[in-house]
Amino acid sequence: MSKPKVAFYWCASCGGCEEAVVDLAEGILPVVEAVDIVFWPVALDFKRADLEAMEDGAIVASFINGAIRTSEQEEMAHLLRQKSQILVAFGACSHLGGVPGLANLFTREEILRFVYHDAPTVSDGPLYPQETWEAPEGRLELPRFAEVVRALDQVVPVDYYLPGCPPPVELVENAVAAILKGELPARGSVLAPDVALCESCPRRASKPERLSLQELRRPHQVLIDQETCLLAQGLLCMGPATRSGCGAACVVGNMPCTGCMGPTSRVLDQGAKALSGLASLFEAKTPAEVEHILAGVPDPVGTLYRYSVPASLLAVARKEVSHEPHGGH
Ligand code: SF4
Ligand code: SF4
Repeated sequence: MSKPKVAFYWCASCGGCEEAVVDLAEGILPVVEAVDIVFWPVALDFKRADLEAMEDGAIVASFINGAIRTSEQEEMAHLLRQKSQILVAFGACSHLGGVPGLANLFTREEILRFVYHDAPTVSDGPLYPQETWEAPEGRLELPRFAEVVRALDQVVPVDYYLPGCPPPVELVENAVAAILKGELPARGSVLAPDVALCESCPRRASKPERLSLQELRRPHQVLIDQETCLLAQGLLCMGPATRSGCGAACVVGNMPCTGCMGPTSRVLDQGAKALSGLASLFEAKTPAEVEHILAGVPDPVGTLYRYSVPASLLAVARKEVSHEPHGGH
């Protein structure tokens, strides 16, 4: 009997999710033994034509990491969807848009103008990338840089989500085992515990029922106590608005959670959830006191929505107010 076929693909991300697969360490050996990896551009020399030649549904599971920003990524997402029985959004960027999704705070034009013209290191601009170029050898084509960054499920239907930046090894192992045994939960599930990080945090006991914050401090401004809840120390920890499943890795490392696992299923918008929770902790009676507290969060969107702008209500709002013409360079 042939082994189940699996595929991996890398879209708009840093590549850390590809390393998460390798982080399985010796645990990858039984996986490689049990499956046939038929497409993994970062590690194996299969081509797009090999994928196109497969029958629809021939791949049991495809794991796509990264958000969707270019036309090539969109085409590959559709192709892998067509060829796969199960499509897994692997990691925060694929799940919610991730850090690349912060680019949606700027228009495509603004990004291209800065990178190719205004950046201090650019001396010969403006020279913008062209999508086609007639060379003596023939017509050359580059993928189109899309108007916005999208999460994978904003482009194709997704069956499961493995959250995290990158997904924790234990969750990856559990997901692979569940796929091989055919014991997956309902389609659409996030393959991680559906409770807030605070529930499993080793500092949970020191998280007060009620807090009364007069200021927020950033990690470099304070000597962080290693035992006490970080919020209680005035540090903006996203634990209350973030899904569990990472072993509270950052908190264990004495840093506040930045929210990479995304929200639980009961939360529509992770940043709004974090903001409303924080607002209830502040003790500010005057506009000056509010300003003082907000000064501790110099980049509110980048802090509260670090991994989730494309999947958030902000993205919806931006679409509704945007009147920018599409197209461009
Ligand atoms: S706020 Fe942060 S440090 Fe405090 S209990 Fe929650 S996850 Fe842990
Ligand atoms: S503590 Fe927060 S930011 Fe760190 S790995 Fe866990 S969910 Fe991600």
